[in-house]
Amino acid sequence: MCNLGCMKSGVQQRLALVLAFLGVVTLLTGVVWRYAYTQGLDQLAARGEADLALASDRLVGQLQRYRDLAVLMANHPTVVQTSGATDFSGVSDLLREVADKSAALDVLVVNRTGRVTTSASGAAPADLRRYPHVQRALRGALGWGHGPAEPLTQRAYYHAAPVFDGAGKVQGAVVVITDLNGIDYNWRGTNPAAFFTDARGEVYISNRSELLFWRRPADSAGLIPPAGEAPPFAAMMEGPHEIWQLGWGPYLPQEALHLTRDLPVIGMTGEVLLDVRQPRALAFAQAAAVAALCLAFGSLLFLAAERRRTLAAANVTLERRVADRTQALRETNAKLVAEAEEREEAQAALRRAQDDLVQAGKLSALGQMSAGISHELNQPLMAIRSYADNAAQFLERDRPGRAGENLSRISQMTQRMGRIIQNLRAFARQENLAATSVELGAVLGTAIELTRTARKAADVTLDFEPADQNIWVNGGEVRLGQVFINLITNAVDAMADRPERVLRIEIETEKQITVRFSDTGPGIEMPDKVFDPFYTTKDVGQNSGMGLGLSISYGIVQSCGGQIKGSNLASGGAVFTVTLEPAMAPNTTQEAAE
Ligand code: ADP
Repeated sequence: MCNLGCMKSGVQQRLALVLAFLGVVTLLTGVVWRYAYTQGLDQLAARGEADLALASDRLVGQLQRYRDLAVLMANHPTVVQTSGATDFSGVSDLLREVADKSAALDVLVVNRTGRVTTSASGAAPADLRRYPHVQRALRGALGWGHGPAEPLTQRAYYHAAPVFDGAGKVQGAVVVITDLNGIDYNWRGTNPAAFFTDARGEVYISNRSELLFWRRPADSAGLIPPAGEAPPFAAMMEGPHEIWQLGWGPYLPQEALHLTRDLPVIGMTGEVLLDVRQPRALAFAQAAAVAALCLAFGSLLFLAAERRRTLAAANVTLERRVADRTQALRETNAKLVAEAEEREEAQAALRRAQDDLVQAGKLSALGQMSAGISHELNQPLMAIRSYADNAAQFLERDRPGRAGENLSRISQMTQRMGRIIQNLRAFARQENLAATSVELGAVLGTAIELTRTARKAADVTLDFEPADQNIWVNGGEVRLGQVFINLITNAVDAMADRPERVLRIEIETEKQITVRFSDTGPGIEMPDKVFDPFYTTKDVGQNSGMGLGLSISYGIVQSCGGQIKGSNLASGGAVFTVTLEPAMAPNTTQEAAE
């Protein structure tokens, strides 16, 4: 059984489980994100490398043309012939023509001291000795470099090729100046953002003009503008990749993968900034998909677990209820058993009380009958006396025949007396035996006989036809007799003051075995009450007015499995019906043995 504390710990456990699951999902999502992002960055880097290589090649190729031009011009006979001379008019035209055709900003010739002897534009500074590329050319090697070419341009690229005389000595140099504006103008705005920094870290060429002349700060990544405050910048490593976070304007990504490529041919480093938004978004989508999948799966698992838990809880409740109900039933059962025992005890007590009542009723009936019986015995006694006297006289007169007649009458009389006394004895005896088979006609006959005196005294006519065959019913001879005697006596009592006094006793065997006692008395006053003990309408002083007869009869008939009912006839009298259970005729051999 789970109490409040146990429930609380269950909730905590589930919460911990959910949190742990969320932790694992977060971790997994993070791993997926990182993996996908790194993969995306790898692909982006590969693409960026290719883009950078392309941009670099293009730049190098474009500049190469001017280097070749410088070399060609240095070998040009006119230039070779005139580089050492002072009249440059012929060369000037040539240089101008070459510059025009090749789109070079300027083409000029310097003498061996580095002074400009002639130029296509005519605007070149007079002395170029300080430029390293010129110095290099004057030493016989190919020179190159970048820098401003005022007043023509701020960003120029120089190629310087030595001019050799016939003896192979350097006698001057040809310098081709390329306007870088013209070069990066062509690919300005293309993607991705690419720029070329020189050895000092200054952006010299770029397809994003806003980055031009930005410089790399000493000992750190990124770029800062030549003037003003440096915009926000941060650099970090994402695995092998360098990521720059920048706020460098609308045309540059906010977060970019930074790639570099050394270009020793032109003395610069190509750099490219690739927007990482796409790989980031892709990695985010992949991570989100994994997280969503995990969460959906987790939710399903959680719901299933919750459902199982709820079912288990419901089961426990059900089992508890069943146990409670069973316990309640057991208690009720025990109570019922106790009640049944009590009832049995009460019934036994009632039966005892009824038996006592029967006995009491019998004694009272005995009292009633004693008068009748003494009269009944008196009559034969008187007859015996007169028969005896008669017999004596006949003997005296020597008429033994008549005397014998009288004696046999005496014998008959004593038999009758014996029967009466026998009945009386049986009546007074307490009968505790269980109901057995009794012959209804015999019992009824005895009852009628025992009440004959009373009937006669009250001048009651009996209307009774005995059955022509034996009817076996369930009951006790004495008890049933007691019932019948009681019913007959009551009818006789009821009719005492009536002008017509007829008692009718009928036996019915068609559907059930019924004995009906109907009289011509006044009828029952309170039919509902007649079977109640001590209910009587008779005077207290009268012998029979105890109000026990019918209640005892009721108990007797019921104990024999029958029924007794009392009601009034339409003609005015009362009728009592006794229904009895039919029984088998007892075994004849047993009867013979008895
Ligand atoms: P008791 O005869 O001592 O009064 P019973 O139990 O035998 O006691 O009868 C109870 C009452 O039932 C009688 O007092 C009488 O009022 C009524 N009763 C019984 N039998 C009849 C009858 N045949 N006709 C009218 N009333 C009767």
